[in-house]
Amino acid sequence: MPTPTVALKIDVDTYAGTREGVPRLLDLLNSHHARGTFYFCMGPDHTGRALRRIVTHRGFLQKALRSGAPSAYGLKTMLYGVLLPGPLISKQCASVMRETVRQGHEPGIHAWNHVDWHDHLIGNDIGFAKSELGQAAAAFKEIFGHLAASTAAPGWTVSHESLALQDQMQLSFCSDARGTHPFYPVVDGKRFTTLQIPTTLPTADELLGRNGLQSVDLPEYYLHALRPGLNVLTIHAELEGGCISSYFDRLLRLLHEHGIPCITLAEAAASVAAAPACNLAMGMIAGRALPVALQGTELP
Ligand SMILES: [Zn+2]
Repeated sequence: MPTPTVALKIDVDTYAGTREGVPRLLDLLNSHHARGTFYFCMGPDHTGRALRRIVTHRGFLQKALRSGAPSAYGLKTMLYGVLLPGPLISKQCASVMRETVRQGHEPGIHAWNHVDWHDHLIGNDIGFAKSELGQAAAAFKEIFGHLAASTAAPGWTVSHESLALQDQMQLSFCSDARGTHPFYPVVDGKRFTTLQIPTTLPTADELLGRNGLQSVDLPEYYLHALRPGLNVLTIHAELEGGCISSYFDRLLRLLHEHGIPCITLAEAAASVAAAPACNLAMGMIAGRALPVALQGTELP
């Protein structure tokens, strides 16, 4: 039976998460010999606009309170795009982003505008995805000097159009879905050609409060949830690089002590010899207020 491996997917949603959470995560990863893939938002931080969801979705309010969103993001972040102009993250944080590569990690694209993608992708034509991913790809190239090899959709929100665009961009792989193993997505009978490396484990904000689980329980929870072979864990610079960083520190120590490597998603993708085609559809999972892209049944 193959030993477990953890591919670490690090979503960076905000200006504060990029500026403060990423350096903290770099220190933690460095001290535990771990590597990961940082998915950056390049455009304006409009996190405050997600506040609208707090008043329009009861489930989102519960999640915001349970995950400690106000303490994770800070008051200023909650006002960006509403009462304060949103900082342009790629302009202000280019050196932090480059530092991730200097320390042996992999960079990728999370979004141009995280809130817009999450709220407006579905129902829009391919022009919307093209504008969002196009701006993000241009900013990425300016910072890193080469094109991005992969993207990871905000809130695991995909559409027929976004998947078609990823194929056009000839990305090496993407990480847009929740599932069990790498696959090629099929939506309504249409097969796409970009490999998906899905997140296999629940995120900290989905777990906190479930069955009384607290931050202090997260390291052991994850250690016991690992399966043989490839596991993919999504963390957030705003949480694991912020208010729950001490628990993430302990998780990394436990993984290292058990000889379980933390690798980038590119390394995970390179280890995939052959992947099946699987259905992909938006659906609900425990702990999230909005639907996410779910890996479905395997197709011949
Ligand atoms: Zn995100």
